[in-house]
Parts: sequence; structure tokens; C-alpha cells
Amino acid sequence: MSDSGLRQRTSWLWLSLLSFSIILGWITYETRWFYPEMRRYFGDAGTLMGQQLASRSRHHLQAALADLAQHAENNSLSLENSINQLDMAWGFLNIAVYRDGYVCTQPSLAQMDQFIDRLATTPPPTAQESLNTLLPILECLTEIEQGQWDKRSALAMEVAERVSLHQRMLLWGALVLYLMGIGFWWMHEQQRKAYHRNLRDTLRWKRQALHDPLTGALNRRALDTDLNLHFERKASGNYSFVLLMCDIDFFKPYNDSLGHAEGDKALQQVVAAIRNILRQEDRIYRYGGEELAVILTGAEAEEGVEIAFRALEAVEQLRIPNPGSPSTYLTISIGVSCAGIHTPNADALIRDADRKLYQAKHNGRNCLST
Ligand code: GH3
Ligand code: MG
Ligand code: MG
Repeated sequence: MSDSGLRQRTSWLWLSLLSFSIILGWITYETRWFYPEMRRYFGDAGTLMGQQLASRSRHHLQAALADLAQHAENNSLSLENSINQLDMAWGFLNIAVYRDGYVCTQPSLAQMDQFIDRLATTPPPTAQESLNTLLPILECLTEIEQGQWDKRSALAMEVAERVSLHQRMLLWGALVLYLMGIGFWWMHEQQRKAYHRNLRDTLRWKRQALHDPLTGALNRRALDTDLNLHFERKASGNYSFVLLMCDIDFFKPYNDSLGHAEGDKALQQVVAAIRNILRQEDRIYRYGGEELAVILTGAEAEEGVEIAFRALEAVEQLRIPNPGSPSTYLTISIGVSCAGIHTPNADALIRDADRKLYQAKHNGRNCLST
């Protein structure tokens, strides 16, 4: 991958990490809102408890009223229970939330105080007097209870709305995160595909740069490179290899009588036939025209001769009629040169193989020379 490609990829990675972190922070922020909202609703702070105390106050006030009614019918009963009930009612009403929030609270407390004092005097209050005194306090308690319930409902509505808002935020956050995930995955896929496409193209170009398109054999450039590598290997240790230089016999007359296209076809067949008898580590090259070179990796001279004989035979066995040749079929001649201790470099080896090829031609063709 190129430098700019790598830089682009790295900045994308950082950008994705940053965006994911921001969205995750957002989701966490929204999530933490649930708890305070719930606590606000269910907690006993502020205005909520007060409605229950007002109900208790009402309970004791009603008990006092019932007691006073009984007393009015039967004067011999004690008023102590009524006073206790009124004390309790007074205590449950006398809280800051009510005093601050409802104007009727303070007068009701004062009235209860007076009425408790009144109970200590004779004659005791009649049922009607008790009712007239305590009824406005009951109305005040009703106002407090209703007011508290309204506040509670309003708060419940507000909490529900806020919770639903946070829920929506969370949902959106999750959705954005999901879409970003898909987006980044898609971008990554595109990059991966582009990378493989480039790799395939590079390999194809490399292959094209080193191969002959007609025969599929390696080309002259590859031969030069490989020969240098073999010489380096030879210089670093006990290593020998053989170069075969092959040339098709009477190929010009073949072309002249059957046409260039047939000549191309024959050339392809010859390359394929030679390649077939080579070992896996050997390579065949198109040296130029209808001249082919073969490198026999790690081979000694004897092994080279043996493989060269097999190549001669393989081409002849193709039985491609050559009208221009005295030997009926298409044949090749081979110069066999082993890269020994006296061979200084690739040029010298090629020259030697060429000389031996010329010798083989001179010796009558369809043969090899060493
Ligand atoms: P010799 O036995 O001495 O090698 O005789 P020859 O006719 O083969 O002579 P030479 O090796 O000089 O042959 C060269 C001919 O090879 C010329 C051309 O007709 C043919 N040739 C070279 N390259 C190609 C090719 O790519 N396709 C075809 N069809 N023919 C080619
Ligand atoms: Mg020839
Ligand atoms: Mg030739």
C-alpha cells in the first residue's frame, strides 16, 4: 500500500475511533439520567410526602369530630380522647411544606389551638359548634391533599416525558452507532477490495513483464535476472547449473511454406513439449525469435546432457511435418553449457551455449553439442 493510502487509512481509523467514543459518551450520558429522574419521583424529598401527612391529619380530625358528636349526646364522657385526636391532627398539619404552600394552613392551626383551649372550658361545645369550627380545617386538608396530588401528577408527567426523551436519545444513539458501524465496515470492505485489486494487477503486470505472450515462456529479461541469481548462488557455495540454448531447425522454410500463423502454433507446441520434460525447478525462456533457453537448476553437465536428449526427443515426437526440412519433422538443435568454475558470468555462459548450438547446427541439426 502506498504512503498516502496508509496515511488515509490511519486517519480514517482515528476518525472512527473518535466518533465511536463521542457516541458512546452520549449514550452513557443519556443512560445516567434515568436514575436521578426515578429518584426524584420515588424519593421522599420535597413536596411528595406531605399529602400522606395531610391524610393522617384528616383521619385524626374526623376521629375527633366523631368523638365530639358522641360527647354531645352523652355529657358524662371524657373529652380527653378528642383533645388527643386534635393534638395529633395539629401535629400532622404543622409541617413546613403545608405552611409554605397553602395559605389555609396557618389559620387552621390557630383555629385548632383555640378549639383545644375551648374544650377545657364549660359548657363543652355543642355538636354544631364543633362542626362549624372543624369543617373549614377539613376543607383546608382537602385543598392540601388535592394540591399535593396535582403536584405529584405533574411531576409524574414531567418525569415520564423526560424518561421518554432520554429513551429516544438512546435509541437514536444506538441507531447512529449501528449505521456508523455499517458505514465503517463498508469503507473497510472497499479498501480491502481495492487493495486486493491492486495486488492482483501488480502481480499480473509483474507476470506480463517477465513472460512472452505468444508461448507463455519466460522472456529475455527474466533470463538475465535468473542467470545473475544463479551466478550469485554459484559464487556463494558449491553449486552448478546448466544452460541449454535451443533453436528450431529450418524454421524459416517452415514459415515460408506453411505461413507465419502455423509457425507461431508450432513454436507454442515446441515450448510446451520441452516444458513437459523439465523438472519442477527448471525454467524455459524465449531468448529471441525461435531460439529458446533453458536453465537446469542445480544440474551437473551429465544431467544437462540427459535432459537435452529428452528435449530433442520430445520435439521430434510432436511429429510436426516440416516440408522444408530433410528430416521430415520439425526438430531442434541444442547447445549444452554447464556453468563451471571457469565460467565467470552470464554473458560468458550464453556465448558458450551459443557457440555449442552453432556447433550442433554444423553437425547436422536435430542433435546437441557439449
Ligand atoms: P536453422 O536451422 O539454421 O536455424 O534455420 P532457420 O530457418 O531456423 O534459421 P533461423 O534460426 O535464422 O530462423 C529464423 C526464422 O525463425 C525467421 C523467422 O521466419 C522465424 N521466426 C522467428 N521468430 C518467429 C516467430 O515469432 N513466429 C514465427 N512464425 N516465426 C518466427
Ligand atoms: Mg532456426
Ligand atoms: Mg534462429
